[in-house]
Order: sequence, then structure tokens, then C-alpha cells
Amino acid sequence: MTVSEYTGGVNYFCSDFKCTGCGTCEKVCLSDKIKMMDNKPVWQKDVFCYMCYACVNLCPAQSVQINDIPFVKSHTRENGRYSHPYATANDIAGEKK
Ligand code: SF4
Ligand code: SF4
Repeated sequence: MTVSEYTGGVNYFCSDFKCTGCGTCEKVCLSDKIKMMDNKPVWQKDVFCYMCYACVNLCPAQSVQINDIPFVKSHTRENGRYSHPYATANDIAGEKK
């Protein structure tokens, strides 16, 4: 499992055992917060997150999870994902500057 280093002072995102190392999360992360390292995503500590949830919703393996934070329970492990039918991972990646 890889974990976000920092988002608002907490470890917020992680990838679980289902990660295949496909790199889609890095590709759709417009803030460049996610970098693939040893075939796993690592959320970079000092990079600002846009909180767009593209990494969560476009991971084909539904591997990206949101961790519980104080007073906020995450439900990504039991819930599904939603991505816009007209915005593919390639469309989003194409918006990278
Ligand atoms: S998109 Fe999902 S399966 Fe692919 S590298 Fe990222 S976390 Fe792993
Ligand atoms: S929520 Fe968006 S900006 Fe933040 S790490 Fe995921 S894809 Fe990147």
C-alpha cells in the first residue's frame, strides 16, 4: 500500500492491494501530485492537491482509497466510483500543462 504524504496535514489517499501499477492515476493527476515510484503511486508531500478525485474515480482497479481523517469517515472501500461518461482518462491527461 502507498499512502499520501500530505494533504491538509493528514495522510489522505492511498492505493491498496488491487493496484496493478498501470499509471492512470499519475496520468490524470493535473496537479502532478502523484508520481509512480517502483510501479506504485506516491502522493508527493509538497505538491498541492486540487482535490479533483480523478485519481479515485479513474483508477481502473478501484485501488485508490481515501483514508479516514479525524471526524470524517471515508467510504471508498465499500462504495463504487463515478467518472464522467464524456471525460476519459486520456481527455483529462490531455489537459496537463
Ligand atoms: S490507477 Fe490504480 S491501478 Fe493504476 S497505478 Fe494508479 S492506483 Fe494503481
Ligand atoms: S485528487 Fe486530483 S489533484 Fe489530488 S492527487 Fe488525486 S488526481 Fe491529483
